[in-house]
Amino acid sequence: MAGKSQVCKIARLQSLFYRDCKMSNEGLINIHSVIPFSKINGPGNRMVIFFQGCNKRCPGCFNPNTHHFETVNLYSPEAIFKKHPVNGIDGITVSGGEPFLQHDGLLKLLKAAKEMYGLSTIVYTGLTYNELEERPDYLSCLSFIDALVDGRYEESKKEKTLLARGSTNQRFYFFSSRYTEADFYMAGKIEFIIGKNGIVTKTGFSNIGIRIN
Ligand code: SF4
Repeated sequence: MAGKSQVCKIARLQSLFYRDCKMSNEGLINIHSVIPFSKINGPGNRMVIFFQGCNKRCPGCFNPNTHHFETVNLYSPEAIFKKHPVNGIDGITVSGGEPFLQHDGLLKLLKAAKEMYGLSTIVYTGLTYNELEERPDYLSCLSFIDALVDGRYEESKKEKTLLARGSTNQRFYFFSSRYTEADFYMAGKIEFIIGKNGIVTKTGFSNIGIRIN
């Protein structure tokens, strides 16, 4: 019979499993939005892909519109790269929302980015690395990730330097030699992007009125 801590662990895994089932979209990814070109979400020129859906509800989260689990945009990785060509892009940054809740789609996206386009890959997750280790199906993504930034946003530990993370509890993990932590010091904390339609999008690592379109 499971002890109290085991019961808690089982309940947490069941909850994650239920959420994964709900997030299954038969190979397609529920995407909140894509910023085709950013210089502030990791080293170099990056396409930033925001997954839809997160159950953490961190107070002060920069992207609260990514929390709900309704379908926003269903894309295959191929469709994302067709809509947003990778010319001039060094890599993709995957954020959210919680990317690992759609781990099948995440894996396909990371593989496509690396194998089809030679892009680098960075993933921001609200899970800690220790939590990822409990899930072999999540761990399979790590072989296609150059850098992982883990942990939920903690407002009391807000990052005050230009290091590309929301709060100081979040840690960097490097699974290739492509980047080091020094590469994650950005030129600023916020970036404004003017789209072809004239809509201004704000992105970065400050939650002052961030809007993602
Ligand atoms: S884990 Fe990330 S996306 Fe989810 S609520 Fe926390 S900061 Fe927001």
